[in-house]
Amino acid sequence: MPGVMAPGLVPPRPPVPPPVPPRGAPPEAESGVGGLSGVERDRILAKAALFSPPSGVLADGRRELVGLSREELAAALAEVGEKPFRAKQLWHWIYHQGVTDFARMSTVARPLQEKLAERFVIGRPEAAVVQTSEDQTRKWLFRFRDGQEAETVYIPDRVQDRGAVCLSSQVGCTLSCRFCHTGTQRLTRNLGPAEIVGQFMAARDSYAEWPSPKGDTPRLLSTIVLMGMGEPLYNYANVAQAMRIVMDGEGIGLSRRRITLSTSGVVPMMDRAGEELGVNLAVSLHAVTDELRDEIVPLNRKYPIAELIAACRRYPAASNARRITFEYVMLRGVNDSEAEARELVRLIAGIPAKVNLIPFNPWPNSAYEPSTRAQLDRFSRIVMDAGFASPVRTPRGQDILAACGQLRTESRRG
Ligand code: SF4
Repeated sequence: MPGVMAPGLVPPRPPVPPPVPPRGAPPEAESGVGGLSGVERDRILAKAALFSPPSGVLADGRRELVGLSREELAAALAEVGEKPFRAKQLWHWIYHQGVTDFARMSTVARPLQEKLAERFVIGRPEAAVVQTSEDQTRKWLFRFRDGQEAETVYIPDRVQDRGAVCLSSQVGCTLSCRFCHTGTQRLTRNLGPAEIVGQFMAARDSYAEWPSPKGDTPRLLSTIVLMGMGEPLYNYANVAQAMRIVMDGEGIGLSRRRITLSTSGVVPMMDRAGEELGVNLAVSLHAVTDELRDEIVPLNRKYPIAELIAACRRYPAASNARRITFEYVMLRGVNDSEAEARELVRLIAGIPAKVNLIPFNPWPNSAYEPSTRAQLDRFSRIVMDAGFASPVRTPRGQDILAACGQLRTESRRG
């Protein structure tokens, strides 16, 4: 984002991502769950691998432990001659207590602490810039080991002592949604599990939000939303591993009910995320006709509205208690008419859902204007009268460009 450029990152031109195919998938991909086969999922996963994060081994040969699954942690310890129970012990220190220094692991004998410190590291992304808004929203520009950067935002609840941490899943984004500042930054690479979990852990560090010796439990950073930079379902493997770590009851222990994954509509991966992770789902809808959605959310050319809505209808983790959130950014004169509100409720009829109306948050050189308050209210009223909660999201952190759709860094693919 402007003003937080990483010095010295003057890169060669990044590779051109594969073009978005025309509407509809080829016939061989039209089988399996919801009419989309594993072929399509495999293609998405293979493409994600081209943008893999760097390895977790540092230049000095030590290995990063954050981001390893329990099995990987046990295997790493076995390689240095340690028994499996050590993995459980370290998991507790790393993810429950939040320690980054082996010397603070009081249940580990000193000689072993020293041995572990020689071979491993428990890292955090570096907070290159930290800004706190006048409304107490906080934004970090995190710099990772290879110098790439992504932004993370903490949005405190206005009333209670709790809040949401908005995590990034990629550096840049391939999807180029027209209203989104991140979409103007081409995809540099995917973030790894250590970098995704690390954003949350570093945010906890920042608020001293680890269990205290007295047994006080963290409260402020109470939910995770995967709504920062990037499309999480285009980095599914790393996001899934990170979320499994976050949900592990012997560590951070965040319930799947407290995690919301936001997608622009990568339909084949929605099924998989629902089955494997069962987290809450948010869908960036933003338009009710394919013609308009093709333009403002270009992924729609690949997975049009009908397929997207069908995937929402079958999303396994949705229920009346855990409604799917449809995100709808209100763009003046573009998608905010009363006819569009009526079409929206027709589209989502029967889905346990709510609609988040997001006043457009302008960013430098953005092409749109926010809807008027009166138009927001008219739109919201139609949606509410149809039986859907339809809160108008209060923009947060606008003064530090931390609001929805405003995140961006200067990282480029090297
Ligand atoms: S809205 Fe999300 S998916 Fe679309 S360009 Fe922005 S970060 Fe990417």
